[in-house]
Amino acid sequence: MLLTELAPSDAKSTVGCVLVVEDEVIIQDAIALALREEGYSVLLAEDGYSALQIAKTAARLDLVVLDVMLPSINGLDLCRILRHEANNVPVLMISARGNESDQITGLEVGADDYLTKPFGMRELVARCRALLRRSRREFVATNITVYKFGDIALYPDECRVTIKEAEVNLSPKEFRLLDLFMSHPRRVWSREQLLEKVWGEDFVGDSKTVDVHIRWLREKIEFDPSDPKHIVTVRGFGYRLG
Ligand code: CA
Repeated sequence: MLLTELAPSDAKSTVGCVLVVEDEVIIQDAIALALREEGYSVLLAEDGYSALQIAKTAARLDLVVLDVMLPSINGLDLCRILRHEANNVPVLMISARGNESDQITGLEVGADDYLTKPFGMRELVARCRALLRRSRREFVATNITVYKFGDIALYPDECRVTIKEAEVNLSPKEFRLLDLFMSHPRRVWSREQLLEKVWGEDFVGDSKTVDVHIRWLREKIEFDPSDPKHIVTVRGFGYRLG
């Protein structure tokens, strides 16, 4: 398994993260370099199985450039698995075979676009850019709700939180606490209200549980957890956002 993250050549790392799955190292290098020069972060895999693991665990993945002929799991099967698992990351399939049936199969298993080798890197980058643009438009159209507070963005439908566009791993309780705060900006919540909303009415325990989870949440989202600016304590009442 090979997993390498190449830092983009400049600071514009937010244009997108692309996983390049290609067992021919020379082609893999050329694609990675071309994408890097455009400011993309690049993840690399040389076989289908490692690619699947990366697709499942990457904090961020905006696009997959996927070769058809690969060791372990081939590109067509990998794409089929991703779609079966409801992973809708855009896939640009590449293949040495100029065979039309291969291309049709690629699109049937859920690839978004198809490119036949040999291809120019400018064409590959243009196709990647077009796919990312299209998926961003669809993202805006389907995800109406996102709560933002400073650098924090919370996507309730996806149970996902980012800070400055970097993924933050929250436990389910931490997520539900933050969701409650961000969907009701500046509202003060008592510990009892938070217990009821997040833990449920049947929860047996005391309000110290809330303080513990707030502390953990602060450690993940505050610049300085000992001087919180996001989840603030309202003395004698509880907590609020901002
Ligand atoms: Ca190959």
